Amino acid sequence: MSTNNDPNAALHEAATKALNALRQVATDPLTVEELAAALDRINALALPVADSLKCPHCQYAGEVETDNGGTFRYLVSTTAWREIVESKKSRRKTKPQTIIVDGLSHTYDEDEETNDRIECRKCMKEFLLAKSIEVEFV
Ligand SMILES: [Zn+2]
Repeated sequence: MSTNNDPNAALHEAATKALNALRQVATDPLTVEELAAALDRINALALPVADSLKCPHCQYAGEVETDNGGTFRYLVSTTAWREIVESKKSRRKTKPQTIIVDGLSHTYDEDEETNDRIECRKCMKEFLLAKSIEVEFV
């Protein structure tokens, strides 16, 4: 993080970090998976890291269930897909084509889950857990 309050310096620092994160995963040409991994890293730069299950945004530690239900949620990113039902071409050249998509979405179970993070159900903001915290899936 920037040590001064100059918003341009903070923005420059964030952009430099994002570019470096992109360089760490990118080869030329980028695949969709490489780009997604780079975006995950860039998004993670914006999240604070907690060394315990306590929200760094609002200090909530999960003592009581929130009005939003539950205490914390473990979030991951997956690829969701929807069937394209129909493609309609417009009779007028000035109007674009319309794609009709099924509202029901599915996930690609064979895809690896990425971008692990915690959602605070009190303030609804996200944060990362320090690598020192062990996570067991049951
Ligand atoms: Zn919170």
